[in-house]
Amino acid sequence: MASLNSHAKDLSRFWKGRILWDFPMAQFSTLKVGGPAEAIISATNVGDLKRLIQWLNEHDIAWWILGRGSNILVPDSGLAGVIIGLEGEFSSIEKLLAPPPGGDEEKIFVRAGGGCLLPKMINYCTEQSLSGLEFAVGIPGSIGGAIIMNAGAWGYEIGNLVHGVMLMDSSGRTYSESGENLGFSYRKWSMPPDTVLLSATLTLSSGDKDHIKSRCANYLKLRRENQPFAEASAGSFFKNPPAGSAGRLIEEAGLKGLTIGGAKISEKHANFIVNTGRATATDILNLAQLVQQEVFKRFGIKLEPEVHILGEK
Ligand SMILES: Cc1cc2nc3c(=O)[nH]c(=O)nc-3n(C[C@H](O)[C@H](O)[C@H](O)COP(=O)(O)OP(=O)(O)OC[C@H]3O[C@@H](n4cnc5c(N)ncnc54)[C@H](O)[C@@H]3O)c2cc1C
Repeated sequence: MASLNSHAKDLSRFWKGRILWDFPMAQFSTLKVGGPAEAIISATNVGDLKRLIQWLNEHDIAWWILGRGSNILVPDSGLAGVIIGLEGEFSSIEKLLAPPPGGDEEKIFVRAGGGCLLPKMINYCTEQSLSGLEFAVGIPGSIGGAIIMNAGAWGYEIGNLVHGVMLMDSSGRTYSESGENLGFSYRKWSMPPDTVLLSATLTLSSGDKDHIKSRCANYLKLRRENQPFAEASAGSFFKNPPAGSAGRLIEEAGLKGLTIGGAKISEKHANFIVNTGRATATDILNLAQLVQQEVFKRFGIKLEPEVHILGEK
Protein backbone atom coordinates (compact mmCIF):
# COMPACT_ATOMS: atom_id res chain seq x y z
CA MET A 1 0.00 0.00 0.00
CA ALA A 2 1.21 3.53 -0.79
CA SER A 3 1.65 6.11 1.95
CA LEU A 4 -0.90 8.87 1.79
CA ASN A 5 1.87 11.46 2.13
CA SER A 6 2.77 11.32 -1.53
CA HIS A 7 -0.93 11.76 -2.44
CA ALA A 8 -1.98 14.27 0.23
CA LYS A 9 -2.26 17.18 -2.20
CA ASP A 10 -4.22 15.06 -4.69
CA LEU A 11 -6.61 14.02 -1.92
CA SER A 12 -7.13 17.66 -0.86
CA ARG A 13 -7.99 18.53 -4.44
CA PHE A 14 -10.26 15.50 -4.88
CA TRP A 15 -12.21 15.67 -1.60
CA LYS A 16 -14.21 18.86 -1.12
CA GLY A 17 -15.25 18.10 2.47
CA ARG A 18 -13.23 18.44 5.68
CA ILE A 19 -10.11 16.32 6.15
CA LEU A 20 -8.43 15.89 9.53
CA TRP A 21 -4.73 15.33 8.84
CA ASP A 22 -2.51 13.31 11.18
CA PHE A 23 -5.24 13.25 13.77
CA PRO A 24 -4.86 11.18 16.99
CA MET A 25 -7.18 8.19 16.91
CA ALA A 26 -7.26 8.21 20.73
CA GLN A 27 -9.99 10.83 20.34
CA PHE A 28 -12.12 8.41 18.33
CA SER A 29 -11.65 5.29 20.42
CA THR A 30 -13.45 4.51 23.68
CA LEU A 31 -10.14 3.01 24.89
CA LYS A 32 -8.69 6.52 24.47
CA VAL A 33 -5.43 5.26 22.97
CA GLY A 34 -3.98 5.19 19.48
CA GLY A 35 -1.63 7.25 17.34
CA PRO A 36 -2.57 9.45 14.40
CA ALA A 37 -4.38 8.35 11.29
CA GLU A 38 -2.88 10.00 8.22
CA ALA A 39 -6.32 11.37 7.38
CA ILE A 40 -9.85 11.17 8.76
CA ILE A 41 -12.76 11.91 6.45
CA SER A 42 -16.52 11.78 6.93
CA ALA A 43 -18.73 10.63 4.08
CA THR A 44 -22.33 11.81 4.27
CA ASN A 45 -23.93 9.91 1.39
CA VAL A 46 -23.47 6.73 -0.62
CA GLY A 47 -22.30 8.51 -3.79
CA ASP A 48 -19.48 10.34 -1.99
CA LEU A 49 -18.47 7.21 -0.10
CA LYS A 50 -18.24 5.28 -3.36
CA ARG A 51 -16.11 7.99 -5.01
CA LEU A 52 -13.82 8.13 -2.00
CA ILE A 53 -13.31 4.38 -1.74
CA GLN A 54 -12.66 4.09 -5.47
CA TRP A 55 -10.15 6.96 -5.34
CA LEU A 56 -8.33 5.37 -2.39
CA ASN A 57 -8.27 1.99 -4.14
CA GLU A 58 -6.91 3.55 -7.34
CA HIS A 59 -4.11 5.15 -5.32
CA ASP A 60 -3.50 1.95 -3.35
CA ILE A 61 -4.17 3.69 -0.03
CA ALA A 62 -5.45 1.68 2.95
CA TRP A 63 -8.79 2.70 4.48
CA TRP A 64 -10.93 1.69 7.43
CA ILE A 65 -14.52 2.44 8.30
CA LEU A 66 -14.96 3.90 11.77
CA GLY A 67 -18.16 3.52 13.75
CA ARG A 68 -18.28 4.79 17.32
CA GLY A 69 -14.77 3.42 17.99
CA SER A 70 -15.99 1.24 20.85
CA ASN A 71 -14.39 -1.97 19.64
CA ILE A 72 -11.11 -0.87 18.07
CA LEU A 73 -7.51 -0.62 19.16
CA VAL A 74 -5.20 1.59 17.13
CA PRO A 75 -1.42 1.13 17.59
CA ASP A 76 0.58 4.01 19.06
CA SER A 77 2.38 4.29 15.73
CA GLY A 78 -0.95 5.26 14.14
CA LEU A 79 -2.44 4.23 10.83
CA ALA A 80 -0.96 4.70 7.38
CA GLY A 81 -4.14 5.38 5.46
CA VAL A 82 -7.55 6.96 5.73
CA ILE A 83 -10.22 6.52 8.39
CA ILE A 84 -13.73 6.98 7.02
CA GLY A 85 -16.58 8.03 9.29
CA LEU A 86 -20.23 7.72 8.25
CA GLU A 87 -22.40 10.77 8.91
CA GLY A 88 -25.31 12.61 7.25
CA GLU A 89 -27.66 10.13 5.59
CA PHE A 90 -25.83 7.29 7.34
CA SER A 91 -27.24 8.52 10.67
CA SER A 92 -30.87 8.29 9.58
CA ILE A 93 -33.67 6.21 11.13
CA GLU A 94 -36.90 5.50 9.30
CA LYS A 95 -39.89 3.32 10.21
CA LEU A 96 -41.11 1.52 7.08
CA LEU A 97 -44.78 2.03 6.27
CA ALA A 98 -45.20 -1.56 5.07
CA PRO A 99 -43.20 -4.77 5.57
CA PRO A 100 -40.38 -5.18 3.03
CA PRO A 101 -40.56 -8.21 0.69
CA GLY A 102 -40.47 -11.38 2.79
CA GLY A 103 -41.14 -9.44 6.00
CA ASP A 104 -43.58 -10.76 8.61
CA GLU A 105 -46.86 -8.77 8.45
CA GLU A 106 -47.07 -8.82 12.26
CA LYS A 107 -43.72 -7.09 12.70
CA ILE A 108 -42.53 -3.50 12.41
CA PHE A 109 -39.49 -2.72 10.28
CA VAL A 110 -37.06 0.12 10.93
CA ARG A 111 -34.25 1.08 8.57
CA ALA A 112 -31.20 2.75 10.10
CA GLY A 113 -28.01 4.06 8.51
CA GLY A 114 -24.72 2.32 9.21
CA GLY A 115 -23.44 5.36 11.12
CA CYS A 116 -26.53 5.69 13.32
CA LEU A 117 -25.58 5.29 16.98
CA LEU A 118 -27.18 2.41 18.87
CA PRO A 119 -28.25 4.63 21.81
CA LYS A 120 -30.09 6.89 19.33
CA MET A 121 -31.76 3.85 17.76
CA ILE A 122 -32.76 2.48 21.17
CA ASN A 123 -34.25 5.86 22.15
CA TYR A 124 -36.16 5.91 18.88
CA CYS A 125 -37.49 2.39 19.46
CA THR A 126 -38.55 3.27 22.99
CA GLU A 127 -40.36 6.41 21.84
CA GLN A 128 -42.09 4.43 19.08
CA SER A 129 -42.94 1.56 21.50
CA LEU A 130 -40.88 -0.89 19.46
CA SER A 131 -39.42 -3.87 21.24
CA GLY A 132 -36.46 -6.11 20.34
CA LEU A 133 -33.35 -4.01 20.81
CA GLU A 134 -33.54 -3.45 24.57
CA PHE A 135 -30.69 -5.93 25.21
CA ALA A 136 -28.31 -3.55 23.43
CA VAL A 137 -28.80 -0.69 25.86
CA GLY A 138 -25.39 0.33 27.18
CA ILE A 139 -23.53 -0.88 24.06
CA PRO A 140 -21.97 2.34 22.81
CA GLY A 141 -21.58 1.34 19.14
CA SER A 142 -23.08 2.27 15.79
CA ILE A 143 -25.51 0.17 13.77
CA GLY A 144 -22.69 -0.69 11.31
CA GLY A 145 -20.21 -1.68 14.02
CA ALA A 146 -22.86 -3.64 15.91
CA ILE A 147 -23.95 -5.61 12.85
CA ILE A 148 -20.51 -6.50 11.56
CA MET A 149 -19.61 -7.58 15.14
CA ASN A 150 -22.99 -9.27 15.65
CA ALA A 151 -23.05 -7.43 18.96
CA GLY A 152 -24.94 -9.16 21.70
CA ALA A 153 -25.72 -9.30 25.38
CA TRP A 154 -27.83 -11.28 27.83
CA GLY A 155 -28.35 -14.10 25.32
CA TYR A 156 -29.51 -11.86 22.45
CA GLU A 157 -27.62 -10.90 19.28
CA ILE A 158 -28.39 -8.10 16.85
CA GLY A 159 -27.93 -10.47 13.89
CA ASN A 160 -31.24 -12.12 14.78
CA LEU A 161 -33.05 -8.81 14.17
CA VAL A 162 -31.51 -8.03 10.77
CA HIS A 163 -34.06 -8.44 8.00
CA GLY A 164 -31.85 -7.01 5.26
CA VAL A 165 -28.96 -4.67 4.61
CA MET A 166 -27.49 -2.39 1.96
CA LEU A 167 -23.79 -3.03 1.50
CA MET A 168 -20.87 -1.63 -0.45
CA ASP A 169 -18.14 -4.02 -1.49
CA SER A 170 -14.46 -3.13 -1.45
CA SER A 171 -14.66 -1.86 -5.04
CA GLY A 172 -17.50 0.57 -4.27
CA ARG A 173 -20.35 -1.52 -5.72
CA THR A 174 -23.59 -1.30 -3.72
CA TYR A 175 -25.97 -4.23 -3.31
CA SER A 176 -28.65 -5.49 -0.97
CA GLU A 177 -28.47 -8.70 1.01
CA SER A 178 -30.93 -10.45 3.25
CA GLY A 179 -30.07 -10.89 6.92
CA GLU A 180 -29.97 -14.65 6.66
CA ASN A 181 -27.18 -14.47 4.04
CA LEU A 182 -24.82 -12.51 6.27
CA GLY A 183 -23.52 -15.62 8.04
CA PHE A 184 -23.84 -14.33 11.58
CA SER A 185 -22.06 -16.24 14.30
CA TYR A 186 -20.63 -15.33 17.68
CA ARG A 187 -19.40 -11.70 17.43
CA LYS A 188 -19.00 -11.67 13.67
CA TRP A 189 -20.63 -11.75 10.31
CA SER A 190 -19.11 -13.61 7.35
CA MET A 191 -19.00 -10.96 4.66
CA PRO A 192 -15.73 -10.34 2.78
CA PRO A 193 -13.21 -7.94 4.37
CA ASP A 194 -13.80 -4.25 3.62
CA THR A 195 -17.53 -4.73 3.05
CA VAL A 196 -19.22 -1.55 4.27
CA LEU A 197 -22.59 -1.69 5.97
CA LEU A 198 -24.52 1.26 4.55
CA SER A 199 -27.89 0.64 6.20
CA ALA A 200 -29.87 -2.13 7.85
CA THR A 201 -33.54 -2.94 8.24
CA LEU A 202 -34.29 -4.41 11.66
CA THR A 203 -37.33 -6.52 12.52
CA LEU A 204 -39.00 -5.25 15.69
CA SER A 205 -42.25 -5.89 17.51
CA SER A 206 -44.88 -3.52 18.67
CA GLY A 207 -44.62 -3.33 22.46
CA ASP A 208 -45.61 -1.46 25.58
CA LYS A 209 -43.50 1.66 26.14
CA ASP A 210 -43.33 1.31 29.93
CA HIS A 211 -42.35 -2.33 29.62
CA ILE A 212 -39.62 -1.46 27.10
CA LYS A 213 -38.32 1.29 29.39
CA SER A 214 -38.24 -1.03 32.35
CA ARG A 215 -36.39 -3.76 30.40
CA CYS A 216 -33.80 -1.15 29.34
CA ALA A 217 -33.45 0.06 32.93
CA ASN A 218 -32.93 -3.51 34.17
CA TYR A 219 -30.24 -4.22 31.58
CA LEU A 220 -28.47 -0.97 32.42
CA LYS A 221 -28.60 -1.82 36.11
CA LEU A 222 -27.05 -5.24 35.40
CA ARG A 223 -24.27 -3.56 33.41
CA ARG A 224 -23.54 -1.04 36.15
CA GLU A 225 -23.37 -3.87 38.69
CA ASN A 226 -21.14 -6.16 36.64
CA GLN A 227 -19.01 -4.01 34.36
CA PRO A 228 -16.68 -1.03 34.79
CA PHE A 229 -18.83 1.79 33.52
CA ALA A 230 -16.77 4.90 34.25
CA GLU A 231 -13.35 3.76 32.99
CA ALA A 232 -12.29 3.82 29.34
CA SER A 233 -12.53 0.39 27.73
CA ALA A 234 -13.66 -1.41 24.60
CA GLY A 235 -16.08 -3.67 26.46
CA SER A 236 -15.09 -7.34 26.58
CA PHE A 237 -11.56 -7.56 25.24
CA PHE A 238 -11.58 -11.28 24.39
CA LYS A 239 -14.23 -13.48 22.82
CA ASN A 240 -15.60 -16.20 25.04
CA PRO A 241 -14.08 -19.56 24.07
CA PRO A 242 -16.56 -22.15 22.74
CA ALA A 243 -17.17 -23.62 26.19
CA GLY A 244 -16.91 -21.04 28.92
CA SER A 245 -16.31 -17.45 29.74
CA ALA A 246 -13.12 -15.53 28.97
CA GLY A 247 -13.69 -13.40 32.08
CA ARG A 248 -13.89 -16.46 34.33
CA LEU A 249 -10.69 -17.95 32.87
CA ILE A 250 -8.82 -14.66 33.36
CA GLU A 251 -10.12 -14.38 36.91
CA GLU A 252 -9.26 -18.01 37.73
CA ALA A 253 -5.76 -17.42 36.35
CA GLY A 254 -5.45 -14.79 39.10
CA LEU A 255 -5.06 -11.88 36.70
CA LYS A 256 -7.73 -9.48 37.99
CA GLY A 257 -6.15 -6.13 38.78
CA LEU A 258 -2.97 -6.93 36.81
CA THR A 259 -1.48 -3.74 35.41
CA ILE A 260 0.99 -2.86 32.68
CA GLY A 261 1.66 0.88 32.47
CA GLY A 262 -1.76 2.52 32.43
CA ALA A 263 -3.62 -0.61 31.29
CA LYS A 264 -5.34 -2.77 33.86
CA ILE A 265 -7.47 -5.90 34.05
CA SER A 266 -10.63 -4.52 35.62
CA GLU A 267 -11.29 -5.57 39.21
CA LYS A 268 -15.00 -5.58 38.39
CA HIS A 269 -14.98 -7.72 35.23
CA ALA A 270 -11.83 -9.63 34.28
CA ASN A 271 -12.58 -9.53 30.54
CA PHE A 272 -12.41 -5.73 30.51
CA ILE A 273 -9.02 -4.10 29.95
CA VAL A 274 -9.39 -0.55 31.18
CA ASN A 275 -7.32 2.53 30.55
CA THR A 276 -6.66 3.97 34.01
CA GLY A 277 -5.82 7.33 32.46
CA ARG A 278 -2.39 7.20 30.88
CA ALA A 279 -2.37 3.90 29.03
CA THR A 280 -0.77 3.57 25.64
CA ALA A 281 -1.94 1.13 23.00
CA THR A 282 1.31 -0.76 23.62
CA ASP A 283 0.43 -1.14 27.33
CA ILE A 284 -2.94 -2.60 26.34
CA LEU A 285 -1.48 -4.92 23.70
CA ASN A 286 1.23 -6.12 26.10
CA LEU A 287 -1.33 -6.76 28.83
CA ALA A 288 -3.59 -8.61 26.40
CA GLN A 289 -0.65 -10.76 25.27
CA LEU A 290 0.27 -11.55 28.87
CA VAL A 291 -3.32 -12.59 29.58
CA GLN A 292 -3.30 -14.86 26.53
CA GLN A 293 -0.02 -16.47 27.65
CA GLU A 294 -1.14 -17.01 31.25
CA VAL A 295 -4.57 -18.38 30.31
CA PHE A 296 -2.97 -20.71 27.76
CA LYS A 297 -0.38 -21.90 30.29
CA ARG A 298 -3.06 -22.58 32.88
CA PHE A 299 -5.96 -23.95 30.78
CA GLY A 300 -4.52 -24.67 27.30
CA ILE A 301 -7.06 -22.23 25.81
CA LYS A 302 -6.02 -19.52 23.34
CA LEU A 303 -8.14 -16.42 23.92
CA GLU A 304 -8.94 -14.51 20.75
CA PRO A 305 -9.41 -10.72 20.90
CA GLU A 306 -12.92 -9.47 20.25
CA VAL A 307 -11.50 -5.97 19.80
CA HIS A 308 -10.44 -5.18 16.22
CA ILE A 309 -6.80 -4.19 16.10
CA LEU A 310 -6.69 -1.75 13.20
CA GLY A 311 -3.60 -1.71 11.05
CA GLU A 312 -3.53 -5.50 10.91
CA LYS A 313 -4.77 -5.60 7.32
C1 LIG B 1 -18.55 -0.06 27.82
C2 LIG B 1 -18.70 -0.99 26.63
C3 LIG B 1 -19.62 -2.02 26.68
C4 LIG B 1 -19.75 -2.89 25.60
N1 LIG B 1 -20.66 -3.90 25.68
C5 LIG B 1 -20.81 -4.73 24.64
C6 LIG B 1 -21.76 -5.80 24.69
O1 LIG B 1 -22.48 -5.99 25.66
N2 LIG B 1 -21.87 -6.61 23.61
C7 LIG B 1 -21.11 -6.44 22.49
O2 LIG B 1 -21.26 -7.21 21.54
N3 LIG B 1 -20.20 -5.44 22.42
C8 LIG B 1 -20.03 -4.59 23.45
N4 LIG B 1 -19.11 -3.59 23.37
C9 LIG B 1 -18.24 -3.48 22.18
C10 LIG B 1 -18.76 -2.52 21.10
O3 LIG B 1 -19.52 -1.48 21.66
C11 LIG B 1 -19.59 -3.23 20.04
O4 LIG B 1 -18.86 -4.25 19.41
C12 LIG B 1 -20.09 -2.24 18.98
O5 LIG B 1 -21.07 -2.86 18.24
C13 LIG B 1 -18.99 -1.75 18.06
O6 LIG B 1 -19.55 -0.72 17.26
P1 LIG B 1 -18.72 0.56 16.85
O7 LIG B 1 -19.57 1.40 15.98
O8 LIG B 1 -18.14 1.23 18.03
O9 LIG B 1 -17.58 -0.11 15.99
P2 LIG B 1 -16.07 0.39 15.85
O10 LIG B 1 -15.35 0.13 17.11
O11 LIG B 1 -16.02 1.77 15.31
O12 LIG B 1 -15.56 -0.61 14.74
C14 LIG B 1 -15.47 -2.00 15.01
C15 LIG B 1 -15.21 -2.71 13.68
O13 LIG B 1 -16.35 -2.52 12.85
C16 LIG B 1 -15.96 -1.91 11.61
N5 LIG B 1 -17.10 -1.07 11.21
C17 LIG B 1 -17.71 -0.11 11.93
N6 LIG B 1 -18.75 0.39 11.23
C18 LIG B 1 -18.79 -0.27 10.05
C19 LIG B 1 -19.63 -0.20 8.90
N7 LIG B 1 -20.65 0.65 8.81
N8 LIG B 1 -19.36 -1.04 7.86
C20 LIG B 1 -18.32 -1.91 7.92
N9 LIG B 1 -17.49 -2.01 8.98
C21 LIG B 1 -17.73 -1.20 10.03
C22 LIG B 1 -14.69 -1.16 11.92
O14 LIG B 1 -13.91 -0.97 10.76
C23 LIG B 1 -14.03 -2.11 12.92
O15 LIG B 1 -13.38 -3.15 12.24
C24 LIG B 1 -18.96 -2.70 24.45
C25 LIG B 1 -18.04 -1.65 24.40
C26 LIG B 1 -17.91 -0.79 25.48
C27 LIG B 1 -16.92 0.34 25.40
